[in-house]
Amino acid sequence: MVGATIIPFGLRFQQSIVDFEDSKSRMGETSDILLGHQMSSSLSLTFLGAAGTVTGSKHLLEVDGHRVLIDCGLFQGLKALRLRNWEPFPIDPASIDAVILTHAHLDHCGDLPRLVAAGFRGRIFCTPGTKDLCSLVLPDAAHIQEEDARQANRHGYTKHAPALPLFTSADAARALTHLQPVGYNRPIPVWGPTGVGPGSDPAAKTATVEFINAGHLLGSAYARVRVGERTILFGGDLGRYGRPILPDPSPVDAADVLLLESTYGDRVHEVDDNGDRLAAIVNDTASRGGRLIIPSFAIGRVEEIVYWLKRLEEEKRIPVLPVFIDSPMAAAALTFYSSRMNELDPQLTPGQRHVCAFCTTRMVTVSSPQQSKDLTASRQPAIVISSSGMATGGRVLHHLEAGITSAKNTVLFVGYQAAGTRGRTLVDGGTEIKLHGRILPVAARIERIDSMSAHADAAEIMRWLSGFSRPPRMTHLVHGEPTALAALSTRITKERGWPVHIAAHHERVDLP
Ligand SMILES: [Zn+2]
Repeated sequence: MVGATIIPFGLRFQQSIVDFEDSKSRMGETSDILLGHQMSSSLSLTFLGAAGTVTGSKHLLEVDGHRVLIDCGLFQGLKALRLRNWEPFPIDPASIDAVILTHAHLDHCGDLPRLVAAGFRGRIFCTPGTKDLCSLVLPDAAHIQEEDARQANRHGYTKHAPALPLFTSADAARALTHLQPVGYNRPIPVWGPTGVGPGSDPAAKTATVEFINAGHLLGSAYARVRVGERTILFGGDLGRYGRPILPDPSPVDAADVLLLESTYGDRVHEVDDNGDRLAAIVNDTASRGGRLIIPSFAIGRVEEIVYWLKRLEEEKRIPVLPVFIDSPMAAAALTFYSSRMNELDPQLTPGQRHVCAFCTTRMVTVSSPQQSKDLTASRQPAIVISSSGMATGGRVLHHLEAGITSAKNTVLFVGYQAAGTRGRTLVDGGTEIKLHGRILPVAARIERIDSMSAHADAAEIMRWLSGFSRPPRMTHLVHGEPTALAALSTRITKERGWPVHIAAHHERVDLP
């Protein structure tokens, strides 16, 4: 591929150490010259993941022979989907010029270690907040992969001999060295001349990318890619309006092509109840002397749960209970959130900003595996927050193993549960669950609160779209299960009259 051969490997890395957070003025000089003289480019998009499903986000943008991958996530959920994680990349990773990463959830970034291990040599553009969180989630995902493979080999519950991790800790560490942080609202070139250093070629065409706060997770963004006169907006995951902690999704007023997530395209979240439901679940579990186990995505959702528990405690609506954060990653993420308060909800009060915004009265972060084991063995009433959020792996499995068979306990799910996960089985009323190779009966109460979702619901997606001053020439729907995609497509066509296309896996479309 053109892009892979124009810029020598070493040169890319010379460029990658440049801090683009303060490069706006330099770009202002170069990009206008470049784009002003640009002839119309041929553009295409190939959907390599999150098409017809909610995980595995991976979209290939091709511009005159240059290749840019937008997101590089893992498939999660149903086994048929997870098996896709083991397939070789449909294109040579060495032929990709750059990756643009919208946020640090694994279904958007979790395939980066494999991409780098398979030969990708370019930069991975992301916001500084995303870089921070990736430094937690990628090594953690590698560790879980390695641990699962070790457990499977030790206990013999694998058909593969030996079971191997999808990627290793070394792969994750290598992927992190490719991350190139770029502040919000600062367009920078995706390949070619950077305006700095050797290799700048003012005659070369380039595309620019600009990150816009999506309000979905610390560092989350839409990626606005400009190629000549044309704008393609990669929506990533869209956040919500009027929530604590994260800001509202930033308004965008135009794009020629829009990629839009559809996770909740057929649903509207429960009305925000000011914490009533969470208070009722905590009180109910405490009255039974039981334990409240909250499987949670280690980043994002934990902040919101802790925020609410702290608030309910302060308002004396729940007793002060020990709250265990049994996830070193969640504890570290809490500190990243605290250190980037300027990117969070402007309505967080000055008091909340300066006193610990994310801690309850008796909060304990569990770090060592031994502490985690002690906690699992203890029958003391408590609230335990542990990942993973869909109970597909992580320390929460041990808490479920110890607690799911007792009617005193409650398991509370606070996020989307993809088809095929243990979380989905439980919220769908499953009476037994397989954990570490054992089938266990479900006696604990299973509860679910949808209002803490970090994804916009159908009404919020429509609200965000209403900010567009002209319709995109095409809106591609991705990141949804079939019923959600169909419902959102119908709604956009009916209410806004826009042309809509539901992306299919491995489909390639030319962009207008
Ligand atoms: Zn996400």
